[in-house]
Amino acid sequence: MLTVDSITVRIVELELVRPFVTHMGIQKTRPCIIVAVAGGGQTGYGEFVGGFLPLVFSHESMETGWYVLTEHLCPTLIGRSLRQASEFQEQVEKIRGHRMAIASLEMALWDLQAKMENKPLAQLLGATRDRIAVGISLGIQKDIDSLLDIIKTDGIEQGYQRIKLKIKPGWDVDVVRAVRNEYPQLTLTVDANGVYQLSDAEHLALLDAYALLYIEQPLQYNDFLDHAKLQSRLETDICLDESIRCAHDAYQAIELASCRNINIKPGRVGGLAPSLAIHELCRKRSLPVWCGGMAETGIGKAHNIALAALPGFTLPNDIAATRRHYCRDLVEPEWLLNDDGTISVPSGPGIGVEVNSQMLEQATVRKRIFP
Ligand code: MG
Repeated sequence: MLTVDSITVRIVELELVRPFVTHMGIQKTRPCIIVAVAGGGQTGYGEFVGGFLPLVFSHESMETGWYVLTEHLCPTLIGRSLRQASEFQEQVEKIRGHRMAIASLEMALWDLQAKMENKPLAQLLGATRDRIAVGISLGIQKDIDSLLDIIKTDGIEQGYQRIKLKIKPGWDVDVVRAVRNEYPQLTLTVDANGVYQLSDAEHLALLDAYALLYIEQPLQYNDFLDHAKLQSRLETDICLDESIRCAHDAYQAIELASCRNINIKPGRVGGLAPSLAIHELCRKRSLPVWCGGMAETGIGKAHNIALAALPGFTLPNDIAATRRHYCRDLVEPEWLLNDDGTISVPSGPGIGVEVNSQMLEQATVRKRIFP
């Protein structure tokens, strides 16, 4: 039995290794929501992976996450008992969308359950491996030379197994050709975050010449039909990310042949139980899956690492070492990359890393405790 005695929801800000430059200015820190669920003498942690604003990736934002957690999810969970973490999904069935908010609490419950049972979260989920293959994602650079430099310093020299390039119209085929010429053997993928149209199919087919592992989310986030049409015209596999918000989406994408692999982000799909359902569905239909990243802190990474240890996660995951994003992590030890381009799955109870409570308190900019 999981009894929820108290829940603490915080917005924390962590210092970034490299300031993040957007059209709105320079961001030196990244805010995120950390949820801590206490019960039975243990504490489970989860992380909200939405951005500061409802742009680019999701309709959810820091403030919608805060609202859904503090006004709806937390008040109804206090004092309740669940047989297991997976039961939480039934309690939130009536909530439309807001899966990132739901996931942050759901994942904290999974961590709590694993700690109560004194077993690693990965084991509770059904993991079969003790290290997971990882790669990194590189944003649009100012020119191709800068990109080649950063591939070398941040990817190859660090030992990451796979490089993913963000692409957009005007920064695609020429860029991929240059990278492939420089690195003929590199495991390479591209991610368009939905910026192309089906009318770009002929242009996207030019990428078939460069042995990409896949093209991620070429068309818009709420589409399956045009992705199916595009997939039939490409040799390169399509991977769906933003389009897959739940197991039913995965079912539709598979039935329509909209993609040949799926990026599972537990934060995007409402947590670990829906991630397990998508993993199971993909295994039955022989689609490989992998775990994407949202520049999580060590807490969110821990959940992703546990999930990526499942047997169907056969493609390299977007999970980087702590130092790629943050000067200091919320967890100890911080996440490190092994020499073989993997990250080890922890063997301790729950998420398997300790949350540094002093660091967590220092980084907190807003906090609410239930009850
Ligand atoms: Mg993506």
